[in-house]
Amino acid sequence: MRTLFSGGTLYTGHTEAPAPGDILVEDGRITAVGSGLDADEVIDCTGRWISPGFFDAHVHVAFDSPSMTSNLESPFSLQFYRAAANLKRTLDIGVTSVRDAAGADLGIKTAVDTGLIPGPRMQISISLLSQTGGHGDSHTACGVDVPLMVPHPGRPRGVVDGVDEVRRMVRTLIREGADVIKVATTGGVLSPRDDPRHAHFRDAEIAVMVEEAAAAGLAVMAHAQGTEGVKAAIRNGVRSIEHGIFLDDEAIEMMLDRGTWLVPTLHAPRSLLAAIDAGVPYPPAVVDKAHMVFEAHRDSVRRAHEAGVAIAMGTDCGVGPHGTNLDELAFMTECGMSDLDALHATTGSAAALLGVADDRGLIAPGQRADLVVLDGTPGEVTDLTPRVRGVYQDGRLVSDGPQPAA
Ligand SMILES: [Zn+2]
Repeated sequence: MRTLFSGGTLYTGHTEAPAPGDILVEDGRITAVGSGLDADEVIDCTGRWISPGFFDAHVHVAFDSPSMTSNLESPFSLQFYRAAANLKRTLDIGVTSVRDAAGADLGIKTAVDTGLIPGPRMQISISLLSQTGGHGDSHTACGVDVPLMVPHPGRPRGVVDGVDEVRRMVRTLIREGADVIKVATTGGVLSPRDDPRHAHFRDAEIAVMVEEAAAAGLAVMAHAQGTEGVKAAIRNGVRSIEHGIFLDDEAIEMMLDRGTWLVPTLHAPRSLLAAIDAGVPYPPAVVDKAHMVFEAHRDSVRRAHEAGVAIAMGTDCGVGPHGTNLDELAFMTECGMSDLDALHATTGSAAALLGVADDRGLIAPGQRADLVVLDGTPGEVTDLTPRVRGVYQDGRLVSDGPQPAA
């Protein structure tokens, strides 16, 4: 069966402007791109534009706008049903591939892979490696643990100290099915007991994570906000800096030298500030940090982009609402990226970061037919979500676009 996506304008996943073209799909793969192609079935895309399926390189599908109260009140297994709903919401807006930055386990990924639930293709990190007192240490001032991600047999507690514990934890996560290793090399905003400007883990610990991950063919992604923790991650071979709130010129230079990606997640601080404004009860330390990082973050992303650092789109959704992921593209344009830069970050560049560029992320012969069909001006990224009209995985229609809230 040969299917032709006909009459549309194609954004191919690079930084070239969209242009008219047809896509021929056979057995789930793109076999030709051009005009005058012969097919058994035609999907009329006249007046619409087509992009490679979108990527979100930083999501948390297993949690929703976490707060201390909701953590305490949610039944343990509710997260798995929520994950199914969150994955569907993410797929409905055209995101056909995600990298989960902690929370999702092998069961959730397998449910998608086997077709039990609809969702984007997943790379999972399972748990966050954090030092004692770090971003993943959920020990509270009253003396008890209130974890965002309650440990279970497939999701170990990722708090580790010293080279040996780090090595064992990376091996454990690989055993549990991790596709990527996630570390926090600085404090964070949502964790009340640390500071995003402080560096976490010493060089020897980060180096051993990268070494153990590389031995299994995996990369390391680093939650890194403060400058020293960013530099430690880059210096020791981490593949992507997540958030990158306080980047100085030296950090940017190091990223260019090492080919390190930046995954900005501009969505996260905005969502957090919106939730605070809406009255969600965060600890005062979290509220102060959210305000502190906002402008510094935008400035860092702007300077990194100007310098030519590779950027992949990531949102941290789970901190903000799932299904609003595409707002990130407009936020990226506010930091000086063009619409095409933002689209590239969400397709070809993200695919390269995830190591799947020969499989998806582009509209080109040989690529998987993961596609999004949209209304409106081709390549224009403001208000993308309501313009999604069709989402395809392996050439099969999996969604007609975002569904109205129930
Ligand atoms: Zn995150």
